[in-house]
Amino acid sequence: MRFKDLSQLKRPKPLIITLGSLPQHILMAKFAKDKAFQISERVGVIFEKSFEWYGFTLANNDHPELITDIGLPQNDMNLQDYTTLGSQRIAEFQESLPEDVLINGWIHSHGDLDYRHFSKTDEQNHLTVLDFVAARTRKPLAKKEIAIQDLVFLQKDHFDQKDMAKGSVSLITDRPIAEARIMETVYGSFCYSIVIGDEGWHEQQIHCRERGILSGHTTVRSQAANIEFVDSGRSLSQSDISDLSNEVEEKIKPHTDPPPELIERM
Ligand SMILES: [Zn+2]
Repeated sequence: MRFKDLSQLKRPKPLIITLGSLPQHILMAKFAKDKAFQISERVGVIFEKSFEWYGFTLANNDHPELITDIGLPQNDMNLQDYTTLGSQRIAEFQESLPEDVLINGWIHSHGDLDYRHFSKTDEQNHLTVLDFVAARTRKPLAKKEIAIQDLVFLQKDHFDQKDMAKGSVSLITDRPIAEARIMETVYGSFCYSIVIGDEGWHEQQIHCRERGILSGHTTVRSQAANIEFVDSGRSLSQSDISDLSNEVEEKIKPHTDPPPELIERM
């Protein structure tokens, strides 16, 4: 058989039915934003110097895309421009949260540095956080057809080992069929990353992972995102600020004399 032109060789496009979507921009309660900048301010007041710190962005289970609060874990060490994150720390922090609260990302400060973008270390941290939160922010995005070459139909109780050896995938049905389409669910997960500076600037990204449940086909992508601040009806009170002062004092440990191996990584 001869083809007139190569376009005839193209496979038909797989059928895709959209079921949902991942966030295209970040939704954040004004309360959470004010709290983040207040943490930086407290750090400055308490330690008389600016330090990098990190925390988690939190959401309620019924609306995982809206950041309602900031959670401050015990920071391992806070250098001026270096903060690293481990999955052990994230797991510990998630366990300390109420049942209906989930981590949907992480936030950190670059202090008074004029470094207004994510560093290489930050990029590693994005993936660590995405790995951890993926199960809880997961939702079905689409049903996608899997093109199977050599799909073999077999009928229950009517085949032997020789029939089973044929084809790349065997579909066993209770009655004879001649045609079938296999559709897999593509699940998507996301996490947010926000970096802020003492001067009031912020940069943010959304990290997304999509995975086909049958094919295992996985894609990960990061994109710069806009942030929309929404009024959640909660504002930072004087008593919130005084609680935050205690928390900062307890959880953030300025590391003013880092060991040489850390200096090299900065
Ligand atoms: Zn950073």
